[in-house]
Amino acid sequence: MSTPVVSELDALVAEVAIPVPLRRTFAYDVPEALRSLVHSGAVVSVPFGRRKLSGFIVDVYGRHSDAWNRLSHKFPEDLKPIHAVLEAELALPEELVSLCRWVADYYQAPLGEVFRAALPSGLGKKTPGELPEAEPGSASEIRLSPDQEQAVAAITTAQAEARPAAFLLYGVTGSGKTEVYLRAAEHAVTSGGKVLILVPEIALSPQMIHRVQARFGSRVALWHSSLTPTRRREVWSRARRGDIDVVVGARSAVFAPLPDLKLIVVDEEHESAYKQNESPRYHARDVALVRARFANAVTLLGSATPSLESMSNAERGKYTLLNLPDRVAGRSRGSVELVELPHTERRETRAVSLILSDLLRDAILQTVSRREQAILFLNRRGHSTVVQCEECRKPLHCDQCDITLTWHSDRDRVICHYCGRNKTTPDRCPSCSGSLFVFKGVGTQRVARELARLFPGLRVERLDTDSTRKRGTLETALERFRDGKADVLLGTQMVAKGLDFPGVTLVGVINADLQLSLPDFRSAERTFQLLTQVAGRSGRGPRPGRVIFQTNQAEHYALTAAAAQDYETFYRTELTSRRDPVYPPYVRLINLLFDGRDETKVIDEADAVATFLRKSLRAADHVDFLGPAPQPLSRLKGKHRWHLTLRGPEHKRLQELTTQVLDREASHQRGVRLTVDVDPVSLL
Ligand code: ADP
Ligand code: ZN
Repeated sequence: MSTPVVSELDALVAEVAIPVPLRRTFAYDVPEALRSLVHSGAVVSVPFGRRKLSGFIVDVYGRHSDAWNRLSHKFPEDLKPIHAVLEAELALPEELVSLCRWVADYYQAPLGEVFRAALPSGLGKKTPGELPEAEPGSASEIRLSPDQEQAVAAITTAQAEARPAAFLLYGVTGSGKTEVYLRAAEHAVTSGGKVLILVPEIALSPQMIHRVQARFGSRVALWHSSLTPTRRREVWSRARRGDIDVVVGARSAVFAPLPDLKLIVVDEEHESAYKQNESPRYHARDVALVRARFANAVTLLGSATPSLESMSNAERGKYTLLNLPDRVAGRSRGSVELVELPHTERRETRAVSLILSDLLRDAILQTVSRREQAILFLNRRGHSTVVQCEECRKPLHCDQCDITLTWHSDRDRVICHYCGRNKTTPDRCPSCSGSLFVFKGVGTQRVARELARLFPGLRVERLDTDSTRKRGTLETALERFRDGKADVLLGTQMVAKGLDFPGVTLVGVINADLQLSLPDFRSAERTFQLLTQVAGRSGRGPRPGRVIFQTNQAEHYALTAAAAQDYETFYRTELTSRRDPVYPPYVRLINLLFDGRDETKVIDEADAVATFLRKSLRAADHVDFLGPAPQPLSRLKGKHRWHLTLRGPEHKRLQELTTQVLDREASHQRGVRLTVDVDPVSLL
């Protein structure tokens, strides 16, 4: 950051970032009365067109300074004065201003939008003062295993040296990773530092939160999107003042204003939830690594199934690999069986199910009769994902999206799972007026019905975004299951992750192939990660666990490796497959997304950018691009979607080219929007 020499008499100009989708900042005069209040990171109210908006000061210059002279041509407008400096306690600390600048630059996002993502919501409201009494936490009585000892020693040594080191803690679920996080955190706090613990989703991490709170008492704060604005601001202010030792939070907590940060833990570092899928499209794990570098802190990435990027970074020596190969206290890993999906040609009779194989059906029965519990996983909500006309074979489609409508039995409606449009199930086919529909594609509601049909009296708790829409329902459903008030927990992703129920001895995956068929370079990786994670929900207590995957692709390496719980084999095989066609971690990607209502315009624009890139590319760049082509979901909410994916060995060159495209685009706005996705986690 430049620190211009400002003469005491010189009037000041502030460069302000405003949360609007424009890749530029704006300049304002600083009225004499506000002179002592302006500094980078301060939140200000400014006139913007006819509106009054909140913005963030990026830098301050003397009106006659050289620095301003060099810059002023970028701000051709007449300078208007800042209206006001908003509450000083909301100002971003210097360190976060630098981090935001890095994020805006790297992800090519408007700086104002990055600042907004970093700040607590509810700007301009007053904070109440009362805080809960501090409760002391208690130290752990667990005796570490030798592997854990070794991991903790490596981390604490790096902490003592105050150098920005990164570790990848790789260990199967139940191998004691969380205990290592807690010890490293204790060490940081004892030596006067602060700790940030990132989790993919707060609501799915109750166990982790309990354990952190038990260890650190009330000097822990939670940070997540469903905090009320007031509570969020309260946490923000306390953290900023240094009154909080440990912040546990989801993605946006990576911007929590903790001074003297010593340690950032990223649990389940492979999770795609760390990537924000709207501007600014940052990846919290990667931002965490940068933040730690700025702060000379240690980053600890943990996973049972590290992302290919992280494991290859560890192999190349960028991270230190720490391995916990065994489950704690010799608890057995559950055995995994693969079984063919039931054939849909078979007629459904009392004895036969089109959803549950005989193997899985019997396993459920046995589990329940032993008074143990089962988790059933299916990553699709609703009843039937395809409603097809028996005459013309056309499925019901959303008018606005390139997606079939899902039938929801509870409301008897067909719903678009992308845009949410829904209507009563039609009596006749909109294409041919046929009056018979076939319901295909199994969702969680259909599985629930099937369970009720096959096992009358079975107590099933269904967990998906339909059943947990109301605040608090997720938590109470999980509690009921934990208390043994349900036999089966049936659900989507929500049941796959993080949960620790010792009573569960059976995990069944209704269709293990769903993710595998998606046209994305990460399909196999996601399938492997998800199945491994789901399998880890079984046998966490004293009784051995059993896991059943229903699949039609029992030979696929993602399935066999997940069944064998063999990360290394998966990693090697997948790494090889990323060589041809070449994908990360061998190359970097930037995805350029085009969308608009007029398909011809969208295609023309994508073609024009392709032509521009062909002219700009030099052989020495080793850069190429895929497309332009329609995105796999080629129409959403009435907008046609195309993309073009830049691919090359170095981020820097890709970034330069993207900047050129964006600069060029600024003069080519014609009803087509261009969005940049740096390091996309998926190309879907
Ligand atoms: P992970 O985070 O890898 O899933 P945890 O840290 O949650 O593993 O450990 C799994 C279980 O084992 C937890 O109940 C934890 O309290 C316990 N545990 C962890 N380390 C030890 C240890 N060294 N000795 C005994 N129990 C341990
Ligand atoms: Zn739709």
